[in-house]
Amino acid sequence: MQRHDAPQNTAGPVVIDRVETMLVDLPTIRPHKLSMAVMDGQTLMLVRIRCSDGTEGWGEGTTIGGLAYGAESPEGMKLAIDTYFTPHLIGADANRVPALMSRLNTAIRDNRFAKCAVETALLDALGHRTGLPVSELLGGRQRDRLPVAWTLASGDTGRDIDEAQRMLALRRHQIFKLKIGRRSVREDVAHVAAIKKALGDVACVRVDVNMAWSELEAQRGLAGLVDAGCELVEQPVANIAALARLTGKFPIAVMADESLVGPESGFALARLAGANVFAIKTEQSGGLQAAQRVAAIADAAHIELYGGTMLEGGVGTIASAHVFSTFRELRWGTELFGPLLLTQEILTQPLEYSDFHLTVPALPGLGISMDEDRVQHFRRDRARVVVGPAVTVQI
Ligand SMILES: [Mg+2]
Repeated sequence: MQRHDAPQNTAGPVVIDRVETMLVDLPTIRPHKLSMAVMDGQTLMLVRIRCSDGTEGWGEGTTIGGLAYGAESPEGMKLAIDTYFTPHLIGADANRVPALMSRLNTAIRDNRFAKCAVETALLDALGHRTGLPVSELLGGRQRDRLPVAWTLASGDTGRDIDEAQRMLALRRHQIFKLKIGRRSVREDVAHVAAIKKALGDVACVRVDVNMAWSELEAQRGLAGLVDAGCELVEQPVANIAALARLTGKFPIAVMADESLVGPESGFALARLAGANVFAIKTEQSGGLQAAQRVAAIADAAHIELYGGTMLEGGVGTIASAHVFSTFRELRWGTELFGPLLLTQEILTQPLEYSDFHLTVPALPGLGISMDEDRVQHFRRDRARVVVGPAVTVQI
């Protein structure tokens, strides 16, 4: 794609000229089974912001299983940005990203994922304008490479073991997160124990229950998981008071994920000592800077950090990577594997995964470039010609 890195007009302030949104549907390598949904593909809501100096930036909003995870969907984000965000953005000073985000936060309630997508595009454009990576615009990176966990979510123990062993052999992942909560506690614990036993000490095994357990189920589950050699359990229950009662009761780290929906929720959880670890997600937090504020709360409360994913594609994943690279500590690594779950690439250069890590680009902005032909190809609204009652040809 063409990047317009060199400013074309230096006279006067740089303002936002155009906001474009699109839905891109991409297939996944296998069904991804979570307690609340089974995903057979992923929809990315992409936003492109063009500025008066010729710079442009991209952002992404993605959810897990449409509306199964939260109140926002890719389709809803597109509608919200087109209808309600864009009037606030057109003509605004493109250099003042925090001020613009404050304006959006005042004018528009919630819509955290859509705000994150817009902030990503604004920071990407600002990075191209200044020549700085997004991580540096966010205060500066502390690391160039991030450990990346892999999620085993086929639901089949033998298949999950084969998949984990393949990932270890490729030196792509050595931390494995198992999605559980669809079956009984006893079956789930047996599934985890079999996988940990097969992988041995070369791999770390963690689980994500996605809130599927009651508090009593969680007590039985956590005791079993300790015996199975599992080191961390993510969001075993929905309620934060119950989460706090479980934290520290068993020798296994309890991590909060769904309970973290921005800085205020992070503070509420920290005050209750409701988790040992925060899974910070940029979209769930309401944006890149909001994610940094959640991290600051964790830091002050001596809660450790993990970089979470909403299974974003390349744009959202690398935006999160820039944020996580700025964290003071990242004891539990990240799960920024979203693009590896997709079978189609929309970047000209895929993200660099090697030796169990993802590299954070050092180029201006997000440090990626879009393959616009492929983006067009996978757009949901690409041109179609109807040639007969039951035949549609896609062009
Ligand atoms: Mg989770």
